[in-house]
Amino acid sequence: MSDLTEDQIRSDLDSILERRSAGTRLTTMGAGSDDLDDGRRYLATTVDGGWHVPTWPQQHGGRGASPSQNALIGRLLREFVVPDLYPFAIGLGMVGPALLAHGTETQQDEWLRPIASGASIWCQMFSEPEAGSDLANVALKADQDGEEWVLSGQKTWTSRAMWADWAICLARTDPDQPKHKGLTMFSLPIDTPGVEVRPLTQMNRDAHFSEVFVSDARVLDSWRIGERGEGWRVAMTVLAHERAGGGSRGGGDGNARGVRVPGWISDLQALGVAEEQVWRDEVSKIYAHDSVSRWTSQRAADEARATGVPGPAGSGAKLRTVKSYKDRAYLTNRSGGSYGMLSEGPGYIETMTAPSMSIRGGTDEIQRNILGERVLGLPGEPRLDRDAPWRESRRGLL
Ligand SMILES: Cc1cc2nc3c(=O)[nH]c(=O)nc-3n(C[C@H](O)[C@H](O)[C@H](O)COP(=O)(O)OP(=O)(O)OC[C@H]3O[C@@H](n4cnc5c(N)ncnc54)[C@H](O)[C@@H]3O)c2cc1C
Repeated sequence: MSDLTEDQIRSDLDSILERRSAGTRLTTMGAGSDDLDDGRRYLATTVDGGWHVPTWPQQHGGRGASPSQNALIGRLLREFVVPDLYPFAIGLGMVGPALLAHGTETQQDEWLRPIASGASIWCQMFSEPEAGSDLANVALKADQDGEEWVLSGQKTWTSRAMWADWAICLARTDPDQPKHKGLTMFSLPIDTPGVEVRPLTQMNRDAHFSEVFVSDARVLDSWRIGERGEGWRVAMTVLAHERAGGGSRGGGDGNARGVRVPGWISDLQALGVAEEQVWRDEVSKIYAHDSVSRWTSQRAADEARATGVPGPAGSGAKLRTVKSYKDRAYLTNRSGGSYGMLSEGPGYIETMTAPSMSIRGGTDEIQRNILGERVLGLPGEPRLDRDAPWRESRRGLL
């Protein structure tokens, strides 16, 4: 598809979206919000132009854009009201790219456009009570029965499961293989008989993640993503895109055209604290880090899209994004003084959400391990169970 100029893109977006004003405030990462309608409306409006996932092929709801056009469109979209797309982010940012890399043509035809248009919501059933950082320890089993697979086990921390139509589910298909090799990835309709979703309440009072119990749930072999035994490779694609933050653009501060001061800084100005020297210093440091963080995330997301093989840059991007989120939340909350302790106080919901940012999508420690080993070339961690059959591991024996 030929490249459009900045003015053409802006004028096309102007015809379908409302412009942001300096006062526009939207939630980030769904914190404190259960709204699905704004996101659905926005995605349904932008899908024909391929504006939200520009690098996807046109027939799947994108516009076949190059990484540089994608970056330009992303920058210009920030001038418009793009709602918080948290409920849709797994499909847009993780499952979609994984399907483009590992899905069959039929799977791409069936699932990508509904993701891009907001018609279907996906969740990610990876973590289990004993498989979080050590994700390859997944125990939920899948046994083949002709053209179907029978899934049984338990997942936990499954964000968005209570809204989802589909899940991408990592399962153990061959316990006699070493832990990374006996895994396979499936798509699972969340309303399949035998699937039970039990929401959990978080400390910020959202109930956005769930335990999911699976008892003899049947899925079609044609819903398997990638080959049998290739689940780890597919999972790594999903996680690298999660860390790079691709597709989850939307929400956040007002950033109207010509207004250079982000909303969180004008909020501090309104509280009357941004004029003091010490606060100004802190605000400047956070602003500088925040800008670098956005560029790093953009670079990691572009690299992942362009190569189809996301690298460790996503881990650096995730660490920076988390630090930015926390620094902004804590500074804003402190600015409110004792009022900040109340649930309607400034930065309260973000402060209650902030610790989870260091856990979801892989903890800070795990991101640092990845950077240490894959970027700095430091010696790897001892991995005593890497080559043994999973069945002989402690988890496999239980
Ligand atoms: C808000 C939220 C949403 C989530 N959404 C989803 C979701 O949608 N789908 C999904 O599948 N999962 C989801 N998760 C789960 C998340 O991916 C896991 O919580 C995370 O990977 C950590 O696993 P764990 O909780 O089992 O902790 P553990 O792995 O038990 O880790 C406990 C502590 O030990 C540290 N640690 C563990 N291993 C190492 C190591 N090798 N080196 C150094 N330190 C180590 C960790 O950093 C951590 O501090 C979500 C979590 C949260 C908080």
